[in-house]
Amino acid sequence: MTGNPLSRRDVVRGAVFLGVGAATGGLSVTGAPPALAAPDTAAALAVPVPTIASCATWGARSPGSLSVISSSPDKIVIHHTAGANTTNYTQAQAFAMARSIQNFHMDGNGWSDSGQHFTISRGGYVMEGRHNSLSRLRAGSGMVVGAHCPGQNDKGIGIENEGTYTSATPPAALYDSLVQFCAYICDQYNIAASRIYGHRDYVATICPGNGLYNLLPQLRADVADVLAGGGGDPPPSFSAIVDNTTSGRFTASANWLTSTYSAERYGADYRYANPAAVSDVAYYKVNIPAEGTYRIDAWYPGIAGYNTATPYVVLAKSGNQTVVVDQSTGGGAWRSLGTFTLTAGDKNVVGVSRWSGAAGYVVADAVRVTRV
Ligand SMILES: [Zn+2]
Repeated sequence: MTGNPLSRRDVVRGAVFLGVGAATGGLSVTGAPPALAAPDTAAALAVPVPTIASCATWGARSPGSLSVISSSPDKIVIHHTAGANTTNYTQAQAFAMARSIQNFHMDGNGWSDSGQHFTISRGGYVMEGRHNSLSRLRAGSGMVVGAHCPGQNDKGIGIENEGTYTSATPPAALYDSLVQFCAYICDQYNIAASRIYGHRDYVATICPGNGLYNLLPQLRADVADVLAGGGGDPPPSFSAIVDNTTSGRFTASANWLTSTYSAERYGADYRYANPAAVSDVAYYKVNIPAEGTYRIDAWYPGIAGYNTATPYVVLAKSGNQTVVVDQSTGGGAWRSLGTFTLTAGDKNVVGVSRWSGAAGYVVADAVRVTRV
């Protein structure tokens, strides 16, 4: 405590082509480059950003003179407010408590503002304490000098946890918020989870109480787990193959005929159509579990005579991305179309278009979508 509280029937049989021996080869990717993995996707999986009510949000008074310094904190200091262990877990109560502490610190202690940098209610609401604490934390550099722990006010971020924990331990809502919030602070300021301390480590005080102080080793371990991605939202592995025979997931008009001609096909058969300047796309529907970065591979029987410039269309977050594939070669294997950011949902994700300027059948066989 710091005081208080995806018909031409005349040419149909696939046997029109003699050569099956497709030389191995790659894809010709032209047009808009496939979207590469967005760098922010990787970074986003570390630590979730918690909701933090600013001083203005909870109705703080204007502070007196405060000192914002360029050096960043190197630790977190945990306190308890030593106030009542209320069962009122509402936001309204949390905000009222923050105002009460500020009043006490300003009017009772004669301080310029709340002494602590942040406050967490028993309902788990995280609030800014001293003005400028939130802006500096968001920036990840610098801090406002606090008034919560002599000798650590310009080095440690002070967090007041509502309640008295001399014997009681904090409610799950408070503890869970504390873990996520400390992980965010550690991530923003590059502070090791091991540098979370109790007020009593510096000053002769029972604060934050034996109940909370004894939880600090667990708190450091839980914060370290969140920082390692364990407590955050690590992307689960995901891979789905949709073949032209996959029930309910492949859609193509009657202009797309069926063939078993090439031994390089995926599964029982594949679909093919003459190229034409028409909007007649064969689509593959995939249930994308969450927005993220996915690699998309296509499987087609590569036969000399098949279309050398087949447009695959990926329905990416940034809009339709066209990847042109030479289906006359390199078939009978998964060929990467690239990596794309896809949004969540059960929807058409990839399509094979007939709109090609090149001659030869365009083929729609199978696609595979893998989270990366
Ligand atoms: Zn304290």
